[in-house]
Amino acid sequence: MIRKGESRDVAGRNPMLEGFSSYELRAELRRRRREGGIGPVGFVEAGKMDLEGNALARIRMGSEMSLSYYGKPLVCTYSGGKDSDVMLELFRRSGVPFEVHHSHTTADAPQTVRHVRRAFRELELAGIQCGVDYHVRPGGGRVTMWNLIPGKLMPPTRRVRYCCSVLKETGCEGRMIATGVRWEESSGRKDRESFEGITPKKKDAIHVSDEKMLLTDNGDRRRLFERCEMKAKTAVNPIIDWSDHEVWDFYRGECKCHNPLYAMGFTRVGCIGCPMAGKARWMEFREFPRYREMYIKAFDRMLEVRRRRGLVYRNEEYKAWRSGRDVFLWWMEDKNIPGQMCLEDFIGKEDVHGEEELQAHDG
Ligand code: SF4
Repeated sequence: MIRKGESRDVAGRNPMLEGFSSYELRAELRRRRREGGIGPVGFVEAGKMDLEGNALARIRMGSEMSLSYYGKPLVCTYSGGKDSDVMLELFRRSGVPFEVHHSHTTADAPQTVRHVRRAFRELELAGIQCGVDYHVRPGGGRVTMWNLIPGKLMPPTRRVRYCCSVLKETGCEGRMIATGVRWEESSGRKDRESFEGITPKKKDAIHVSDEKMLLTDNGDRRRLFERCEMKAKTAVNPIIDWSDHEVWDFYRGECKCHNPLYAMGFTRVGCIGCPMAGKARWMEFREFPRYREMYIKAFDRMLEVRRRRGLVYRNEEYKAWRSGRDVFLWWMEDKNIPGQMCLEDFIGKEDVHGEEELQAHDG
């Protein structure tokens, strides 16, 4: 790892990377494929998948590309969740120089914010550069979830996740980053690859497999990816093929510090109320009622901006929104119309969320 004050040669390479030239790495993988029946991915040794070895090979390759193309170390993106901690541990083991970047979404749980701060303190003590993007506007002030919603005139939804592109995916322009993207996370990620050229339009992104990047010396896709350097952000996804189970195993067994949210029963760590969390959001808002209030207030401001601008909804469903609270219930996919009897009215109210929970909170 590059310590503060450590120098690189004129090509921007760190002498500590001497053992990891991409040429040697590819030659070694080719040799192992010939001798050990390595499969098309290139890391499978005699039928046994070496997950950690695969991830380390990707990190080392990404690091070398970052140093050669951008003249700067690979950036490990860090959210404070289990995948991020697994990535951080793999980076520590890889021996490559790296920096760490976190995007402050303003909707993360306090436990996550504290976990990130603690991790960054330890990393900085070890001489690793860490940065937090607070989304400061050029004219001053910050973009937050709470001013983004009125600004965008609609709540973030599963299909329109504008908040992610503003609050999570920014920063590190003109750098190579490492992310914790995994195929198993969602069907939308199935076509992702371990090396990617990130373009403004997602549909134009360049995906390059391990096979093309690590086993072939040349190839159209690889050349296309390499042309992204300096013009765009490029990414390596070291744990793309890890299953949830494998991530949990490594996280529990190998990572020293854990986000306390997991001990509270959370299975995912991200923005409280993220539309991608589905029904788990009810549990999140039960634990963090203050965030529910903040969303309702942001929806109130959103309706106010729409009224001021004379904007009307074409969708009949949205025309019924009178307050931030109405928007919140719609957003939470609560189909109850206030005042209407619902199934729970007849079968008992053991765990009736939505209207009842809000009333309890308001009361
Ligand atoms: S709420 Fe979800 S979609 Fe929006 S920034 Fe947070 S994680 Fe991304």
